[in-house]
Amino acid sequence: MDIRKEYLDFFKNKGHEVISSMPLVPDDPTLLFTNAGMVQFKDIFTGAIPAPKNPTATSCQLCIRAGGKHNDLENVGYTARHHTLFEMLGNFSFGDYFKEDAIAYAWEFITVNLALPIDKLWVTIHESDDEAFNIWKKYIEPSRIKRFGDKDNFWAMGDTGPCGPCSEIFYDQGVENFGSDEDYLGGEGDRFLEIWNLVFMQYEQSNGVRTPLPKPSIDTGMGLERVIAIKEGVLNNFDSSNFKPLVNEVAKLAKKQPTKETIGSYRVIADHLRAVSFMLSQGILFGNEGRPYVNRRILRRAVRHGYLLGFREAFMSKLVDVLIKIMGEHYTDLKEQASFIKEQIMLEEERFFKTIASGMTLFNEELINTKKLFSGEVAFKLYDTYGFPLDLTEDMLREKDLKVDIETFDKLMNAQKAKAKAAWKGSGDEASEGDFKVLLEKYGVNEFVGYENTSYKSTI
Ligand code: ATP
Ligand code: MG
Ligand code: MG
Ligand code: MG
Repeated sequence: MDIRKEYLDFFKNKGHEVISSMPLVPDDPTLLFTNAGMVQFKDIFTGAIPAPKNPTATSCQLCIRAGGKHNDLENVGYTARHHTLFEMLGNFSFGDYFKEDAIAYAWEFITVNLALPIDKLWVTIHESDDEAFNIWKKYIEPSRIKRFGDKDNFWAMGDTGPCGPCSEIFYDQGVENFGSDEDYLGGEGDRFLEIWNLVFMQYEQSNGVRTPLPKPSIDTGMGLERVIAIKEGVLNNFDSSNFKPLVNEVAKLAKKQPTKETIGSYRVIADHLRAVSFMLSQGILFGNEGRPYVNRRILRRAVRHGYLLGFREAFMSKLVDVLIKIMGEHYTDLKEQASFIKEQIMLEEERFFKTIASGMTLFNEELINTKKLFSGEVAFKLYDTYGFPLDLTEDMLREKDLKVDIETFDKLMNAQKAKAKAAWKGSGDEASEGDFKVLLEKYGVNEFVGYENTSYKSTI
């Protein structure tokens, strides 16, 4: 079953306008990436622009949650359900239908179209939301409707603006498969898999006061990768047809099958390749700040995992064709931009492969001396000279349950920024001289960079 199509057709048949995925870069300076289906409808929900003629819509939105308020980068490879880039299916009502219909539609889609077994479904609602409780109990055993507080079941756009309780649908993947303490409903484990969030926007918040909206709205979001995994009967998104071919291709290139210890690396590479490729297809390149730096960080994390698997030269661009086979039919940009994407990935990988070995040596040497806090000086040198973004070093330390001495790192970072700024104040000539001084100083204190690396300006 093509679930994406099934979903959009389902809501189209209920009168919804089918809207295309908006770009990953939103027209909103407060947001790093589009991280939910509702982002493109924000101004309609706030009332800044009037609702369209058809007040109901549906979409399949490409989302990135890496950086900003929603950051799932640290979850990827550790949970069975998080990706940096994923597809969010959604249906929206701009002051049209509300709770009654939103719940009825969700239930119909899940139990009829997806035909998920009812005895595996659970629902959460906000503790105050008796209205939702009374609707849900028409469909599901009341004992399977759980109430939670604001943290889990209240949604707000910000300190001001529309907000309201939400209700989430979970799928129980079985205690026999996930037996840890965390695996209770509302916990952080993967046993109760959250599949769909229904947001009931019924208040307007201003100065901490919530007043009922005259025309409440609906915003929902369902993770496509999670639903596909359930339908395919696998317990981990990375074992589904969305990711498995990528994981297999990594194994083929590495000439190594994953083991319990190494499978996380294969999954991170598969996940990150998707994010990096889509960003490139939409013109987000690799760079030193902002979104391009997020892209660089994601690619370098993947390369580091490749390094762990034994890769010593660029390999990620070889995965792009497999990704296109999986997603290129729907996302034609990927197909059209294929050679550009491969070329950019290859160049960036090559850049990092030049310094990664020296950086890993420095890292491992320092690790031996580390008890609790990893040296801020070394973390800074890794960043500055070897192109290891701070979060990459942190990720490597996480496996050892260690942390970076952030205070020292920040001090060095700020000092360098101040120096660079001072150096760039004067005319062009002075600037280049200043820049040269910064470089000299950097390489002057550097013990680990060999001859061939000294000509290589910081990768950052
Ligand atoms: P979780 O608790 O699992 O992190 P969430 O509560 O942060 O999910 P929502 O913000 O409610 O997620 O987003 C709506 C839906 O989008 C979720 O129910 C889930 O199906 C999907 N989703 C959210 N984050 C991710 C992600 N990083 N990767 C894949 N799917 C996701
Ligand atoms: Mg989350
Ligand atoms: Mg959640
Ligand atoms: Mg949620």
